[in-house]
Parts: sequence; structure tokens; C-alpha cells
Amino acid sequence: MNITFFGAARVVTGSCSLVEAGGLRILVDCGMFQGGRELEAQNAEPLPFDPATLDAVVVTHSHLDHVGRLPLLVKGGFKGSIYATPATLELAGLILEDAVSVMEHNAINYGSPVLYSDNDITATMARFAPLDYYEDLEFGASKKVKIKLRDAGHIFGAAFAEIVSEGKRVVFSGDVGNTKMPIIRETDQLPADIDALVCESTYGDRLHEREFDRQGYIEKMVKEAIDRGGTLMIPSFSLERTQELLYDLNDLVDRQKRLPRVPIFLDSPLAIKATAVYRHFPQYYDEAATKLLKMDDDLFNFPGLKMCLSREDSKLINSAPSPKIIIAGAGMMNGGRIIYHALRYLSDPKNTLLFIGYQAHGTLGRKILDGESPVHFLGESVQVHCQVKAIGALSAHADQEKLLDWIGGAPTLPKKVYFNHGEPVPAEAMVKLLKDELGVKGTVVDLGLKVKV
Ligand SMILES: [Zn+2]
Repeated sequence: MNITFFGAARVVTGSCSLVEAGGLRILVDCGMFQGGRELEAQNAEPLPFDPATLDAVVVTHSHLDHVGRLPLLVKGGFKGSIYATPATLELAGLILEDAVSVMEHNAINYGSPVLYSDNDITATMARFAPLDYYEDLEFGASKKVKIKLRDAGHIFGAAFAEIVSEGKRVVFSGDVGNTKMPIIRETDQLPADIDALVCESTYGDRLHEREFDRQGYIEKMVKEAIDRGGTLMIPSFSLERTQELLYDLNDLVDRQKRLPRVPIFLDSPLAIKATAVYRHFPQYYDEAATKLLKMDDDLFNFPGLKMCLSREDSKLINSAPSPKIIIAGAGMMNGGRIIYHALRYLSDPKNTLLFIGYQAHGTLGRKILDGESPVHFLGESVQVHCQVKAIGALSAHADQEKLLDWIGGAPTLPKKVYFNHGEPVPAEAMVKLLKDELGVKGTVVDLGLKVKV
């Protein structure tokens, strides 16, 4: 069995690995590179393999950096099935449609390329083949390859993928979830006898806050913003982050009555549509959410919440008096409606910008988080005078300790670990830790690296 790494090598985006096993060629994820122009230019380059030669694709989860280049495969002649959990497939359709509209918008504004069309997405979705958690897929004419998905606890529908062939077992972590995330379940245990684990390392050099009271923190942030009479902006990833926030706000406002009712605007058509997918698959909820659902028929809606689907709805937010809360994409502020709000509210000290997810190098979010002021976007130079806050524990990614516990918690230790999906420092930190703590050999993958398992 061979694995070749075609993305997410010393960066956190562009996940794409090729497995050659049992005479078959299986691609695991085909995501977009994101964050900074140089990196994103790679999306427009020809794929480093011929898509027509692939037999199947396995998708771990629906984030753009794992699914964003799937239509390029189909455009390039891929004729096989794209396997993922039913929730991932439904969400992936939404993510790809959104990607096209973002690309079309950027083409007009920055002259960047539009990589595929709505028709390509329709053709891609026609190849979607649901594979639920724990189902056994025996693949290929002689059924020489077996694939199984387990819960990665990262975002709704997210899985880590096990591929077994020729007496070898490889596992692709996809992205590993944080502990105690609301709504979704904890990450499943790794299987025994792994010959090679391909593992993400986004937070490989960091620890999230321990014993973090997420509802308490959200309550505090919202109350402070209300006291200042300002606007609280929350750049939010449309998947998971937003639904978690709505879930917590629903609990705080509607059930526990710990927060006064202030206008909360969900200004993201994608997030609104993605929330509907969460309602389609209650069987994936964790125990607490399942229990809550028996008392509250909508876990993502509460008094004061306004969904802004159209641009007109979005513009009306400006005239709403403060205090108010705006939840909008993109989560790293590299586009989306949040930047129009940022233009309006960043320079006033009464306002707050609260980051609740990872901010990649090169993005506007990262620049502001790193203290840059003024920042330049939408053709303007904007002073950052508002409060800038960030919470790591709301991350959907495992931190160093969780990654180590997850790997070490396998019934038998993996023989070898390949770290991808992490910048060089965190990825190297995981290699060292793995050796020191578990005595397992790890390697940071390079783009184009081919390994034999
Ligand atoms: Zn992810």
C-alpha cells in the first residue's frame, strides 16, 4: 500500500492524499488551499494526478479545505463514487455552492479564477454515495479494500477513515475534534493494529484552556458588550461554530434565562442552510443534545434571533440600535458578510470582535488577532480600536494533549504516524512528543511525499 500527500503538508489546508492499495487508487479528501494569495494560487494549478485514474474518493468531513476541489476531479474525468457520511454529503453540497458564489465574487473584485461552475457541482453531487458511521464498505471487484468511517467529533458528520488492504491498515484522522463539544459526540477510539496513521496537527503545539466554562464565557462576553452599549461581532465558521453558538445562546436566553434578550443577527445564508442539516440528523447528536431535544423542539432558535438570508436583511442590521450581536461568516474574515460589518464597527472602542475559531496566516482575522492596525480591506484602511478577544477552547480541533491521548488511547499503538494539516512548528512538536511520550515514530509530511506502508 502506498500513500502520497498532495496537500495539507506543513499547512492546515488543501487536504488531499492518495492511497494505492489492492490495485485501486483512492483519494482521501480533496480540499482547497486557503489563507494568503500564494497558497490559494495552488488551487488553480493542474491536479498532480489524473482524476480519471481514481477509483473512489473518501471524504472525512465537509469543511472547504477537505472538499473544495472535489468538482475539479469530476471536471477532470473522475467517474467513481464519493463516499462520506450522509450529513457530510448534504453539508458538502452547501459548502461547494457557497464556494462558487465566493469565487464569482472574488473574480469580479480581485480578478481571481473561478475554478468550477454550478453544473460541475451538480455533476459532483451525482457521485455522492452515503456511507454511514461504522458501516463496512468492501470495495473493488475482488473486494480487496475495506473502508470504515468512525466519528471524529470534529464537526457534524465528520469522520476518520480506516482503509484496510493487503493485510495493512491505514487511518486518516481528517480533523480530530476538541473534547466536550456541544451537540456532537466525542471522538471515537482508534482501531488496533494501525500500520500508518495520517494525523492532523493544527494545534499540535498548544493546549486549550482546561475546565473551560463555555456558556459562562459567552454569557460574560455578551453581557460586557451589552454594558458597553456596543456591537459584538462574531466571525463564525458557518459549520459547527455557528450551530454551537446558537445552541448555547438558545440555552442561555430561552431555557436558563441567563441573558437578556438583545437582537442577535445570524447574517450568513450558508450557516442558516447548514443549521437545517443539523435538524435532519438528530441521530448524530450527543446525549445532552438528545435529552434537550425532548424538551425543546428547536435547539437552534430562540427569541431575539433574526436570520438574515438576503442582502437586504443584512443591510437592515446597520440601522438596528446597539447593543446587538452579529454572527456572520467568513470565520477567518477572508470574505463574507462579516467584513462589511468590520468596516463599520472595528474603529469604535465600544464594540467587540470575538474570535471563536482558528485564524490562518494571511487572513484578515489573523492580522487583527496579531494586533495589526490599521488593517486594509475592501479598498479601505481601518483602525482597530474595538476590543479584540479570542477563545481557543471553542475550537473544533483537538489540542496537543487530546491528540496525544487519542493516539495513545488506541488498543495498540500505531506503528507510524504521518502528521499533516498543521504548520511546521505544531507538526514538529507532535513528532517530538510522540517519540518522547509514546515511543512512536512520527514524520511531518512534505508535499508530494510518497510512502510505502
Ligand atoms: Zn475541518
